[in-house]
Amino acid sequence: MQLDNLYQEVILDHYKHPQNKKLSPVFDAQVHHVNPSCGDEIDLNLTINDGVISNISWDGVGCSISQASVSILTELLIGKKIADAYSILDQFVALMQSKGAVPGDEYVLEDAIALAGVSKYPARIKCALLGWMAFKDASVQAQAKSKLD
Ligand code: ZN
Repeated sequence: MQLDNLYQEVILDHYKHPQNKKLSPVFDAQVHHVNPSCGDEIDLNLTINDGVISNISWDGVGCSISQASVSILTELLIGKKIADAYSILDQFVALMQSKGAVPGDEYVLEDAIALAGVSKYPARIKCALLGWMAFKDASVQAQAKSKLD
């Protein structure tokens, strides 16, 4: 896989120094997602307070793309309103499904833009999306729970 060198560095940096990679014992929703085609696994704990993502913590094993992507996600989404997080999620999914045709908005996606090149490699898109799908699942569960409280 050939990725832009700068982008490759961002991915490797997140892989070697993952952010928020320690499951918080306090959470509103906890999910476990796997990507069988690559062997990637992610546990993700999410806390939402008054519509704002107050914490995302995770643990996982797998390839550099999957692990870096969830690390990037936590930096990007913690502190965001849930609606804004969904907007970023939608843009990231669109970027991954673009087959390299869409450059992506660096101001919105920040470090996640480094994964843009992955969209040209269909086998790896699930790696990049794993953490994001885990977040989406957890956010739905957390919001359903808060309606019951
Ligand atoms: Zn993978």
